[in-house]
Amino acid sequence: MRRTPHGPSAADAYAHRHMSYQSINPFNGKLSKIFKELTDPQLEKVLRTAAAAFEIWRRKTFAERAVVVAKAAALMHARVDEFARPVTLEMGKLFAQAQGEVVLSADIIAYYAANAERFLETQSLHPGSGEAEIQSSPFGVLFGVEPWNFPYYQLARFAAPNLMAGNVVMVKHAGCVPQCALAFEKLWRDAGAPAGTYTNLFISYEQVNRVIDDPRIKGVALTGSVEAGKIVAGRAGQNLKKSTMELGGSDAFIVLEDADLEKTVQWAVWGKMNNTGQCCVAAKRFIVVEALADPFLARFQAALAALKPGDPMDPATTLGPLSTEAALVTLLDQVKRAVAGGATLALGGQRIDRPGFFIQPTILTNIKPGNSAFREEFFGPVALFFRVKNEDEAVALANDSEFGLGGAVFTQDVARGKRVASRVDTGMMFINHPTWTSPELPFGGIKNSGYGRELASLGIQEFVNKKLVRVAAIDAVA
Ligand code: NAP
Repeated sequence: MRRTPHGPSAADAYAHRHMSYQSINPFNGKLSKIFKELTDPQLEKVLRTAAAAFEIWRRKTFAERAVVVAKAAALMHARVDEFARPVTLEMGKLFAQAQGEVVLSADIIAYYAANAERFLETQSLHPGSGEAEIQSSPFGVLFGVEPWNFPYYQLARFAAPNLMAGNVVMVKHAGCVPQCALAFEKLWRDAGAPAGTYTNLFISYEQVNRVIDDPRIKGVALTGSVEAGKIVAGRAGQNLKKSTMELGGSDAFIVLEDADLEKTVQWAVWGKMNNTGQCCVAAKRFIVVEALADPFLARFQAALAALKPGDPMDPATTLGPLSTEAALVTLLDQVKRAVAGGATLALGGQRIDRPGFFIQPTILTNIKPGNSAFREEFFGPVALFFRVKNEDEAVALANDSEFGLGGAVFTQDVARGKRVASRVDTGMMFINHPTWTSPELPFGGIKNSGYGRELASLGIQEFVNKKLVRVAAIDAVA
């Protein structure tokens, strides 16, 4: 799927990649259901409904909106398994992780129900004379384009703050998770949200463009690959509509010589394998200083080799499938090109001989700057391992990337960890933990990883008008 397009034909193929909305179980490749796309008249109808819903929703108080939003959170908290099942069945996430995602999504929704009013309260300014304040008001109908890898969490990050701010949202979810898309839309109906407040759109790429162009749409958010980001941000830009872009990453996992080796390796496995490596903030480049490089690699290899592929619904399984056949084919091709370019396979590298979309946990070493692997994002259980002399080399290598999403530094000296963190050019840095997320921490990147922030108080400010209201004495000098 994501891949660096080489020239116009690959970019063009990418622009037409969307096939349909269908549920295929990645564990066995079986198709269970296909969903129809909206016709143009149906799309026009839901756009009209959303625009009308905004006029009602924007006039509600925070407390009134919070009743609906808190109810949605409570329903999700109460029905964890019911929500988690389609995640595992449509994109192959280990069931325990799918349950974790449902809880995290519900936590995000609850967080904004509780805190939105405080985040958006009117701010007093202190001009030389008279009074001034900044009021926050919603933009209108927003359009989100979202990825399959966290089928609810991504939606919660977009929907919850914006609904609490008084916006209404329409979402085009990824083609491979339609049942999750419908479950999340139903959640808002069940919570009592008026029709048009949250709308799922099964639409084509061409219709995506028309939605962005539509004057009723006031802002656009995309989480996904760099390629899709360029297309969607470009379209929003042509329409002078504000956008946020949460794109790919190639996070560095830096291990300094004073790190606690055993615990660091445990986090390395988690950072690489959570969601079968299909996280924007998965640890992707393991940058280890010489003093620990050999023992780190040996332990990391052994831990990855011990993972057990199987049914992601089975609690004994520790290695799930990738989301789609296309994702698997792309990743295998990336590994093949990396090896052809001189990299060494320290582990894995092959499709697992069984039904479904499984790849062996893989480690690539000896990756030189000219190798395709040096710059690409590997979206799956493939680790890139680099050995460096010292901290300075680690920082330089971490920064030698077009991406700038997250990153991690492992050291027992927290002050040193903070110094290194401040030198790495990304939107997020973690010390002694792989990059991760929670409702109260802002999430987002720089460089090709996008712009804007989701979550925390920053995330609710993206699509609100920060309006200055100034009170001056009528006879004041100009
Ligand atoms: P993707 O292929 O870009 O898809 C994301 C969404 O964009 C899907 O809904 C997809 O629809 C849609 N899309 C793709 N091309 C489009 C086009 N030309 N016009 C309109 N819509 C288009 O990304 P993915 O493979 O699903 O997700 C993985 C990528 O997302 C990785 O690069 C990952 O790092 C990134 N990601 C970033 C964050 C973050 O917060 N920074 C979080 C999660 C994931 P279809 O499914 O119908 O093609």
